[in-house]
Amino acid sequence: MLIVMSRQATSSEVRAVADHVNQSGLRAEVSVGAERTVIGVVGSSAGIRSDAFAQLPGVREVVPISKPFKLASREFKPCSSVVDVAGVAVGGDQVVLMAGPCSVESEQMLMRTASFVASRGARVLRGGAFKPRTSPYSFQGLGEVGLRLLAAAREETGLRVVSEVVTPSQIDLVARYVDMLQVGTRNMQNYALLQEVGRSGRPVLLKRGMSSTVEEWLLAAEYILSQGNRNVVLCERGIRTFETATRFTLDLNCVPLVRELSHLPVVVDPSQGTGHRDLVRPMSLAAVAAGAHGLLVEVHPCPSEALSDGAQSLDFDQFERLTGDLDRVLGSRSPAPEREVLSAW
Ligand code: PEP
Ligand code: MN
Repeated sequence: MLIVMSRQATSSEVRAVADHVNQSGLRAEVSVGAERTVIGVVGSSAGIRSDAFAQLPGVREVVPISKPFKLASREFKPCSSVVDVAGVAVGGDQVVLMAGPCSVESEQMLMRTASFVASRGARVLRGGAFKPRTSPYSFQGLGEVGLRLLAAAREETGLRVVSEVVTPSQIDLVARYVDMLQVGTRNMQNYALLQEVGRSGRPVLLKRGMSSTVEEWLLAAEYILSQGNRNVVLCERGIRTFETATRFTLDLNCVPLVRELSHLPVVVDPSQGTGHRDLVRPMSLAAVAAGAHGLLVEVHPCPSEALSDGAQSLDFDQFERLTGDLDRVLGSRSPAPEREVLSAW
């Protein structure tokens, strides 16, 4: 449930209500808005009567949250969230371009790619160091060596860095080198991992499970949020359908849908989502037209030699064409306007 405080409520009234919630065995998440303060009640409130809170001084009303996801819902937080990735705002008024190789393969290819994508307006460098591959015989990533190269590319270019974390025990190591932890599609329902990235406090890029519904995806986000980490960016990356002409089916329906259901930013990965480099540019444009706050795009200096996902990686000329088209379509790269004023939590 959500406790909406009256406009005139004092900070000590807000504190008293939060204390009351916490003393009832639940957890209060206080969200101070421009208009009024709301207190999200987290935990199982079965058996707790809402009028126990409705009578407290300063309370305007108690509203049940109808969705199974609570902290992730727009009912809980009507204003859109902006996630700060080491100074780059995701969910604000600029579409954020995240680009780089599927996997970090060598210093030379990473540095060349990082410099190129930075020169064309990318703000975040992507690159896997721990790769969850379908086959155990495929390239599994360079591990910590790859993370060191990402950190060096960050120093060199000023790009922020996102990289995947596959197990809970890797989180400390990966967080030492990167600005944002990626949870991949195969791990979206790895609840131990979600709780641990939640506890890390680091910004998290949460890919949608390839066979997950929007509700399951938002409940996965809830696992992270419920650990007190509010820095979650959702990433649509394609789902499994009967269609085999593309690697996955990029579900762009979910972009406006998620923006309605949730205050969390949503970005789109057209590389995994299509599996074909020729489809990446049109689907990137479609994604931003649908309201995506950013794009995650695979780029490689020589895609035919890539150790993973070469077929869906853009070469430098294709990436340049994409950024030129994005600039033309978006002007300032602004996403579709919000019905709510943007603000941090
Ligand atoms: C990736 O980004 O390279 C990746 C493996 O993503 P996903 O988890 O969406 O397959
Ligand atoms: Mn990939």
